[in-house]
Amino acid sequence: MRYYTLQIDGKEQVAASADGQALFLLPDFPDMNALIEAGGISEIPADAPEAGPGAVVLAPIPRPRQDILCLGINYAAHAEESARFSQAAFGGDRPYPIFFSKRTAWCPGPGAPIPSHADIVDSLDYECELGVVIGKAASRVSRAEAGAHVFGYTIVNDVSARNLQTRHKQWYFGKSLDGFTPMGPCIVSADEFAFPPALPIRCRVNGELRQNSTTDLLITSIPEIIEMVSQGMTLTAGTVIATGTPAGVGMGMEPPQFLKAGDLVTCEIEGIGILENRVAD
Ligand code: MG
Repeated sequence: MRYYTLQIDGKEQVAASADGQALFLLPDFPDMNALIEAGGISEIPADAPEAGPGAVVLAPIPRPRQDILCLGINYAAHAEESARFSQAAFGGDRPYPIFFSKRTAWCPGPGAPIPSHADIVDSLDYECELGVVIGKAASRVSRAEAGAHVFGYTIVNDVSARNLQTRHKQWYFGKSLDGFTPMGPCIVSADEFAFPPALPIRCRVNGELRQNSTTDLLITSIPEIIEMVSQGMTLTAGTVIATGTPAGVGMGMEPPQFLKAGDLVTCEIEGIGILENRVAD
């Protein structure tokens, strides 16, 4: 099942699609978090109205209840390019994963602009990532049990201001500016994929292929992430985990190429869809 948040006549509504084509409204659920807490649906209700052509697709969780939990440097090739950009900020041995978070007052959906924050950002960058959405709350869960706590998957663009990320001791500020977490186009339920999912993941900038990998190349896998974090921190329903980005970000290019106003960033994960956003002025 594929789950969407739509805006229709200024009102947000949850919708689902069994075939990826027709979207049906689910008025029993006030928002996506309520649908996630309920465990989703197994089939489209017979009386569900079809969404009309005026519906706008928003981020599936437009306002997450908590910060997005993120993995840093979680693909080997991205570790190499990051250390090349800044050995001080990204180099060295890492026996344990980097966890950080993104504040997300609201997430842009497909087609919504990415604010450039040009007055304080001189090195705007993209990071296409597989987003894991937690369903049943996870506390002290083993990796063997982790899959049962995943509601589904989405695409997250972990937009980053490299100058702010490396200037401050923590990445939090440089990752958390308004509009820095585009998400979408939908959440695909976990039962549609093997666990953990091995999906081709790509990012293009103005049509040029920049990132091209698969989601089974994570250094710390999804079951390991859930096991490790849940030993001390309950992952509640609706938690979004951004699992890290593959090689090919702008700071990894020689010379680095950062985003500028008007650039079109196209994140794609096969089986989930396309999340496309243009950088605003
Ligand atoms: Mg990232």
